[in-house]
Amino acid sequence: MIRIFGIGLAAGLALLAPGCAHRAARGPDLVTQYSVIDALLAGDYDGRLPCSELRRHGDFGIGTFDKLDGEMTLLGGAVYAIRADGRVEKAPGAETTPFATVAFFHPDQYEGRPLSGLTYAAFQEDLSRQLPTPNHFYAVWAYGRFHRVTTRSVPRQAPPYVPLAEVTKNQSVFEFTDVEGNLVGFWSPPFAKGVNVPGWHFHFLTRERTGGGHVLDFELRDGAAWLDGKSAVTVLLPDAGDFLRTDLAPDRAEELRRVETDPLKAGASAGDR
Ligand SMILES: [Zn+2]
Repeated sequence: MIRIFGIGLAAGLALLAPGCAHRAARGPDLVTQYSVIDALLAGDYDGRLPCSELRRHGDFGIGTFDKLDGEMTLLGGAVYAIRADGRVEKAPGAETTPFATVAFFHPDQYEGRPLSGLTYAAFQEDLSRQLPTPNHFYAVWAYGRFHRVTTRSVPRQAPPYVPLAEVTKNQSVFEFTDVEGNLVGFWSPPFAKGVNVPGWHFHFLTRERTGGGHVLDFELRDGAAWLDGKSAVTVLLPDAGDFLRTDLAPDRAEELRRVETDPLKAGASAGDR
């Protein structure tokens, strides 16, 4: 426990230092996102923002890539692509994204919140209780040892694109056991519906940065979490391509629930109704 916590704090320090400089330089704590979640749900997978440009808006974040070619985890200023075959590679600066949420991470408190023996659901409940208000955005970084982490990634698509809820029927699911690594995620307020994922959304990246993906479930052994409240948000909208023609009027909340959650659990809850 002490060893792992030591690693977390050391890494937290490294993240804290550049963040403080940014806070002074950039004014209010800001989340920047590219495009909106409903466009991604509708199948607008053409990337238009290069990763080199995305990194100007943050050193921490999550998203996906052009043609939905895997899950993105941005950590320590590096953009990692977790492809559908499980490989992790640093995304080239020229690779583009159709949807991402990023920020400069500078934790609100130096000390991480110690965590032990939590399921993913309990972890989310614990973090939710720590939020000063649910009506701001929060970036959250957690580091820990896990009994088990279940993630997914999505296969590269070719036009004509099908909706995301169709793609995730063929998602790759990865199971990590006795693994150490990072949770990179965001809380988005309920009113962000349609724009981002209301509630919690986490991506995982192993300590060695050789595995990860969109988090479906986990059992955390021990670790720590750092919260970074964000009271401002910038939404960059695509200025060309499918985005301009996509019908963003429909309510896609049910599609989002199916896409974001563990397919087994989603199936169970759908069956209950
Ligand atoms: Zn995700």
